Amino acid sequence: MSREALQKAFQLSSMLLVHKTYLSLTHAIIHYFKSLNGVEDVVAYEIFEGATAQDADSIRRFPISLDEDFRDNNSELLLNCITQSQGGVTRCEIEGIKWLFFDVAEKVKPRRIILIQGQVNEEDQTIVEGLYLVYSNQVALLDSKERDALTHLLNRQTLELTLNEIITFYRGKGLSRQLKNSWLAILDIDFFKKVNDEFGHLYGDEVLLLFAQLMEKVFRNTDFLFRYGGEEFIVILNNCDADGAHEVLERFRVAVEQYPFPSGRVTVSTGYNVVDATDSPAVLIEAADRALYYAKSNGRNRIKDAMSLEATTPVLSANKN
Ligand code: GH3
Ligand code: MG
Ligand code: MG
Repeated sequence: MSREALQKAFQLSSMLLVHKTYLSLTHAIIHYFKSLNGVEDVVAYEIFEGATAQDADSIRRFPISLDEDFRDNNSELLLNCITQSQGGVTRCEIEGIKWLFFDVAEKVKPRRIILIQGQVNEEDQTIVEGLYLVYSNQVALLDSKERDALTHLLNRQTLELTLNEIITFYRGKGLSRQLKNSWLAILDIDFFKKVNDEFGHLYGDEVLLLFAQLMEKVFRNTDFLFRYGGEEFIVILNNCDADGAHEVLERFRVAVEQYPFPSGRVTVSTGYNVVDATDSPAVLIEAADRALYYAKSNGRNRIKDAMSLEATTPVLSANKN
């Protein structure tokens, strides 16, 4: 590495270390890669364990904007990359298109891949390789703060941060009603205590892990997934209308009911709410929680939206943990 390149890599590393969340760190590195000569596009992904060469369902795309389309042009390339790359930065050319694969495969879960499309010169590639080490160490550190250790989904602390970013995004667009919106849903496993009581905690943990993997498969790669606590999960559906939100949550309910969990049949109750940019995170969660309470009290294994609840419904928390 030349002296100038070393100096530049050092400056860029310090610039990256300023970022205190995975979201802003990754935005920053994408922004930098996009500024390199010859680069045409940069897209980042999270690869969860279920992803195989035949199945792209467990791949999530890093959010650039909340109203981006969930369809992705790079699935095939990514699946190739997952099986062939051993991590690190590699060059490749597919059908005349040049790529740099930036693959953080060790130390972090989920695995992260950034696809850099275009012709990057040797000097810049050396800098990208230098940044790889800084970025992967930083992601490992941030994951331990932002993710749940069992499922690797985002944790409760990250939820509030994410919700604030979403609210800011919609406020920036003005407060007029959008055709497509974000939705917050709380998913609570029914009678989960019984699973622990009958099969033990280890089985219980396995059910939680499989439940999280099912979330990764069923929800779109642009939705945000959280373990809210215990046997409660949250999904934020993005770029979705009211019918779409209902449909996908119902699809998930059925997927859980039909999944062969080691402890037998498991069902889930769900309460959800539209993300209204005039509300605070606490108010949004409370409304979804009220809808969840309704679903629990009315037979479980069902979904309920907060908007259709009568304004007179008493505020009760479904959280007993
Ligand atoms: P409901 O249908 O009303 O939601 O009933 P429930 O039994 O699911 O709800 P409750 O809140 O009474 O019990 C939740 C249980 O989840 C109790 C607790 O032991 C279990 N739990 C919480 N966190 C974990 C965990 O990390 N691992 C395991 N195995 N169990 C957990
Ligand atoms: Mg429960
Ligand atoms: Mg609960």
